[in-house]
Amino acid sequence: MIFDVLSLFPEMIEDYCNYSIIKRAVEAGVVSINAINPRDYTLNKHKKVDDTPYGGGAGMVLMPQPYVDAFESVKRLDNSCVIMLSPQGEQLNDKIVNELAKYEQIVLLCGHYEGFDERIRDIIRPREISIGDFVLTGGELPALCLIDAVSRKLEGTLGKIESADEDSFSNGLLEYPHYTKPREYRGLKVPEVLLNGNHKDISEFRLQKSIERTKTKRPDLYEKWLEDN
Ligand code: SAM
Repeated sequence: MIFDVLSLFPEMIEDYCNYSIIKRAVEAGVVSINAINPRDYTLNKHKKVDDTPYGGGAGMVLMPQPYVDAFESVKRLDNSCVIMLSPQGEQLNDKIVNELAKYEQIVLLCGHYEGFDERIRDIIRPREISIGDFVLTGGELPALCLIDAVSRKLEGTLGKIESADEDSFSNGLLEYPHYTKPREYRGLKVPEVLLNGNHKDISEFRLQKSIERTKTKRPDLYEKWLEDN
């Protein structure tokens, strides 16, 4: 999977991808992450990428020329998609992440300041994705959320691919509680069933806990799960 990320702050993308599981995925060749700076594509001598909005108002708007030229410099594979990170997009969830994990290439457009000149949308026609109903200062964190979530769905990113299968949302429920050593901490004991080595009992216990906590924490998910099962 190739991620091509258009960002005015490519270091933010590169730095994040230099740690932990995503770093390993890059080193293993499971993902490749290229940050492209539209500032390198400006045709004006001051390398200006933004300007004041026509019609007035606060903030600066990303100019179309550097962004569209940077986008057009990206070599596109057949099985690829283009995503603009935007608070106005459809909200990212596990279903969309699974869908995105099937592409070979994802081009991500990160905005900044007031956002994009509308003609960038008109020309590129990207899919728009939001990470929630709140506004961040830039698209880098949302792009990284997407890269991280999609990468961990790819074989070879996680130590055991099964660990993604049991995560929250994968079967429509929230994941069950986890425990590790010690067996007792501040008077709180690890449930006995997890210590007896009976895999059938453990599976039943975990499913029950998943159902209970989904019902309590996310009644919307629980209702959907009941309908589907
Ligand atoms: N003026 C825009 C609006 O009200 O819709 C918000 C612009 S925001 C300050 C700057 C950039 O951050 C956006 O272009 C987008 O790339 C990114 N961004 C901010 N919040 C986001 C969110 N919830 N999801 C995805 N991207 C977001």
